[in-house]
Amino acid sequence: MCGIVGYTGKRAAMPVLINGLKKLEYRGYDSAGVALANNQGILTRKQSGKVAGLDQLISDDPLHKELSASHCGIAHTRWATHGPPTTANAHPHQGPNGRIALVHNGINENHNTQRDRFLAGGNTITSETDTEVLAHHIESQ
Ligand code: GLU
Repeated sequence: MCGIVGYTGKRAAMPVLINGLKKLEYRGYDSAGVALANNQGILTRKQSGKVAGLDQLISDDPLHKELSASHCGIAHTRWATHGPPTTANAHPHQGPNGRIALVHNGINENHNTQRDRFLAGGNTITSETDTEVLAHHIESQ
């Protein structure tokens, strides 16, 4: 079952989010990711595999300082239902303009109809999940 963590406050968000994900590992998952907001927008980092791997990915990232400076973010451990456990399918998912980042637990039942509509409208959908189309839908409102 997936895990979701969110934080906004005075502390740096990244350690809160990563520690939160580590506490939820017992639930089982196949991939993990974070999205952090700063004054330039939203940065997401995600990958298949363990939270420790995500933590390492972020530590090695050239934008590590920017990522670590954020005080607001969300994080997710995924238990795949729609699409295999790949990095592309890991959450968070963003809309076409990157204005939002979404993590999701559960199933978006009519995702195929929504997917077809967004593709017909000229959007690119980068994952096989039922979640990414929700991010497109929310961002288009
Ligand atoms: N249905 C979503 C997916 O497959 C969410 C899975 C979950 O609850 O972790 O990406």
